[in-house]
Amino acid sequence: MFTSCKTCDWALVHSDGVPPHDIAVKATNDRLISLVDAGLMRYIRGDVPLQDMLDLAYSEMRYTIVSYLKCESCGRTRFWGLCIRGAPIYKVVKESDPDRWNWEAVPPREQWARS
Ligand SMILES: [Zn+2]
Repeated sequence: MFTSCKTCDWALVHSDGVPPHDIAVKATNDRLISLVDAGLMRYIRGDVPLQDMLDLAYSEMRYTIVSYLKCESCGRTRFWGLCIRGAPIYKVVKESDPDRWNWEAVPPREQWARS
């Protein structure tokens, strides 16, 4: 069942790429950050803070970088994932998914962070 939500659906910014490579990663990430800052979405868990996701992705030190967020408007849990060789993913997942994800250690931040 598809439910549209002005909060978490708004976060997704499309690029003019061919699906599934049609997500504007930086713009979408910026919107998620602003929604979390505004208290409209809640950051549940991720490999690194949202602000650090792109730096870690560009470093190519990790194949995938994921974050889970909960939308305070519709209550759904969102998966936001960057994949070095693949398309980014922004999707609705089950509430239990963050606990079931195979979390792996992230390399020390000084090895990949730009600021
Ligand atoms: Zn929502």
